[in-house]
Amino acid sequence: MAPTIVVGGGIVGLAVARALQDLRPDQPVVVLEKETQVAAHQTGHNSGVIHSGLYYKPGSLKARLAVTGAEQMKQYCEANGITYDVPGKLVVASSDRELAQLDRLLGIGRENGVPVRMAEPGEIEEREPEIRVRAALVVDSTGRVNYRDVAASLARDVRNRGGEIRLGVAVSSVTTAGSGAVVHTSAGDVEAERVAVCGGLHADRIARASGIDPGVRILPFRGEYSELLPDRAWLVKGLVYPVPDPDLPFLGVHLTRGIDGVVHIGPNAVPALAREGYTWSAISPRDLWDSLTYRGSWRLARRYGRIGAQEMARSLAGRALVKAAQEMLPPLQVADVRKSMAGVRAQAVARDGSLVDDFMFKRSGPTLHVLNAPSPAATACLPIGAHIAQELYRS
Ligand SMILES: Cc1cc2nc3c(=O)[nH]c(=O)nc-3n(C[C@H](O)[C@H](O)[C@H](O)COP(=O)(O)OP(=O)(O)OC[C@H]3O[C@@H](n4cnc5c(N)ncnc54)[C@H](O)[C@@H]3O)c2cc1C
Repeated sequence: MAPTIVVGGGIVGLAVARALQDLRPDQPVVVLEKETQVAAHQTGHNSGVIHSGLYYKPGSLKARLAVTGAEQMKQYCEANGITYDVPGKLVVASSDRELAQLDRLLGIGRENGVPVRMAEPGEIEEREPEIRVRAALVVDSTGRVNYRDVAASLARDVRNRGGEIRLGVAVSSVTTAGSGAVVHTSAGDVEAERVAVCGGLHADRIARASGIDPGVRILPFRGEYSELLPDRAWLVKGLVYPVPDPDLPFLGVHLTRGIDGVVHIGPNAVPALAREGYTWSAISPRDLWDSLTYRGSWRLARRYGRIGAQEMARSLAGRALVKAAQEMLPPLQVADVRKSMAGVRAQAVARDGSLVDDFMFKRSGPTLHVLNAPSPAATACLPIGAHIAQELYRS
């Protein structure tokens, strides 16, 4: 019997593989991952927040799957002995304009079914004594986890139920053959009954090579973080986010004490010069060519040029990141921080230069391509997996 193939051993691919086993217990499942370990890219380089579903457009897939995903993620961690906690978070306003945005966000959060409320008098000081802001929302359901641990557990589940995870196998394309498909890989061709392509930063490329017009291109944006030195980590107790700019898909410079106790400050969002470019010196001529020859990149640059320049300045001069964070945390000094991790975000951009906000999937015959699975896809991976498994086997 030809197996169902999942391309990509990130958290989305692994959750899809596990959901396929739930849906069709007798059908073999094989995951093909080009790296020598799972969770090597976005899944292993993120902030580790179990997002609540606060920000997303009501009714969108993101809103629905984040809210159920956050609850399922906590239950999954509980059931599998994965360290996590639920400290909640503050979304803070420092100016009049941000106060108005806070109200807007409160409305969206409530519409999405998120337990969100205005902070009580004295509550901000009690939760975060060093933070100075005008007002804050409290979201009690926000949690923390290391998504590498979750991915490792999902991979174990897949294997324990008889699934296979083949590492070091790169997929170049998928072609339809009869009622099934052939997956072309660095280790030869593999026949499949159905295929779910969850290639993260390479999603559009695999789709194009398979003869599908994805309608978008993945542009890689690097999120760069600093961290508080251990003897200054007491400055931040939990998770503190500014009110996000409603026109941008990023959350702004935030302060996050992770499940490991490290306090990250960031990110800057800068264009990466390679799809897996974790530093400025990582440059891929092919990836750059792909970005620069895409009409959507130039339209995006026209739209967000000023903000992009600010972000790059922040990246090159560490001081600017500290300055942004000082708006919420006045005692913060440049000497309190050091460079920390970076992650590259796969952002689907349409030809008109707009950033695709919602999760995006495209089915073509026996194959389904995941074309946009940005944050909070780690939080929402379990319902995303179930949704994709259902879609893949719909008639
Ligand atoms: C800086 C940053 C912070 C974030 N913070 C959060 C957060 O706090 N909470 C949250 O919920 N989300 C967060 N996210 C988003 C989250 O990490 C991603 O949405 C999620 O990890 C996407 O998972 P994925 O499986 O689609 O992608 P990936 O983890 O990138 O996995 C894709 C996999 O496909 C493999 N692959 C690619 N091409 C091929 C090929 N040709 N053949 C075989 N294998 C291939 C790759 O090697 C990779 O392992 C953050 C992201 C970033 C970058």
